[in-house]
Amino acid sequence: MFDTLARGFRQARNRLAGLTELSESNIEPALREVRLSLLEADVEIGVVKAFLSRVKQKAVGRTLEAKVKHEGETLQVSASDHFVKICHDELEAMMSHEGEPIVWASGRPTGLMMVGLQGSGKTTTCAKLARHISKLGKKPMLVAADMQRPAAVEQLKVLGNQIKIPVFNISGKSPVEICAAAEAEAKKLGRDVIIYDTAGRLAIDEKLMQELAEIKSRVAPENIFLVVDAMIGQDSVKTARSFHERLGISGVVLTKLDGDARGGAAISIKEVTGAPVLFSGVGETTDKFEEFRADGMASRILGMGDVVGLMQDFEQVVDQKKAEKDAERLLQGDFSLDDFLEQVRMIQKMGSLKDLVDKLPLGGMFPGGLPKDVNLDDRELVRIEAIIQSMTRFEKRDPYALIREPRRAERIAKGSGTNAEAVAELVQKFLFMKQMMSGLGQNMGMMGKIPGMK
Ligand code: GDP
Repeated sequence: MFDTLARGFRQARNRLAGLTELSESNIEPALREVRLSLLEADVEIGVVKAFLSRVKQKAVGRTLEAKVKHEGETLQVSASDHFVKICHDELEAMMSHEGEPIVWASGRPTGLMMVGLQGSGKTTTCAKLARHISKLGKKPMLVAADMQRPAAVEQLKVLGNQIKIPVFNISGKSPVEICAAAEAEAKKLGRDVIIYDTAGRLAIDEKLMQELAEIKSRVAPENIFLVVDAMIGQDSVKTARSFHERLGISGVVLTKLDGDARGGAAISIKEVTGAPVLFSGVGETTDKFEEFRADGMASRILGMGDVVGLMQDFEQVVDQKKAEKDAERLLQGDFSLDDFLEQVRMIQKMGSLKDLVDKLPLGGMFPGGLPKDVNLDDRELVRIEAIIQSMTRFEKRDPYALIREPRRAERIAKGSGTNAEAVAELVQKFLFMKQMMSGLGQNMGMMGKIPGMK
């Protein structure tokens, strides 16, 4: 994702290598690289021009080759670092939004009206949003009012069933009538959020806009979210402009950011329409949904990796105190196969390994994808878990037993649906990791405290 942009920014940075001062003229080659990559990524031409002019204005004449104090260390900041930082901040400003993404109602259920063209991912997004909102402790209800696409009502019912969220629909009624009746139903069911899945069209037309405007005036939703497909680049921006002019949308959900979207939509939408991107869809299933964070997106566009996002993923799954205690224990060489399994599970909870690597700063170093010998097969994790769970407590405590007594390895292979080689390989990996851990612990012991530990 965003390979073109990341490459462009990297090349721009290279063009500035060795410079100690940025001037009107020596910054030009870098700006040209950025301009090309932005256009290639389908960013609107007006947006490209405005972006470049702001970056240039801020970059030229900046203090260069400066030394800054960062966490007690003195770091050298070069002209190209300055340039990247300015680009990052500008990109962030172009995509950021203030406050909470959802406006909550008081005294009545909060209304979220979802609009968008057919195929944008609107129905799927309704379910994703409902799941997200219920995780915030609220009780959403879905309203199936997309009568345009024949399968949409059934699709929403299936999704609602999957995520255990009620779906409201009255057959034989018009979308406006269904939406108008939804609030009373929500109150009856004790639901405090209503998500309206409205009709889409293949292209914008007046009849659609009229229907949506009528629903808006009947239900007066606190939020109107436009669902937009990131893969369609500039067209998505045009769509957003039309919807915003007619309905006054409060924000955008950008879907299919997991595909090879080039980033143009993410960068241009707020700049062109004034409505910010609030959420993003990153896969087909209902859990592939994230709050859109401009800073993380800016880092990804620049190819610097989404370090902040990665840290948040970590915080979600790791209990900090326990982690510190565990680390202390592990570094002392007290590392069991159960610990190994726990590490594997933690990685699984963080999403697929592929997603994880996309967020790492390292991701940007492999524009053509990761090297083949980096094993990113999520099935490998499932295999590891199956093997460890097939071991007895004795074997977990003394994995050497599996090497000493091959029949044990054979039994475990059978139990886990793998083979004896896979079991032996896992034991080797584990023993290697254990050895590394205790080696690391001893080194740290010699150097003093373990960073981050009290
Ligand atoms: P609607 O016509 O706007 O209601 O669109 P749907 O919700 O039926 O989605 C259209 C297609 O896009 C379906 O195949 C969805 O699975 C797919 N889709 C929706 N959101 C995403 C996403 O974030 N990533 C990917 N890869 N596919 C998505």
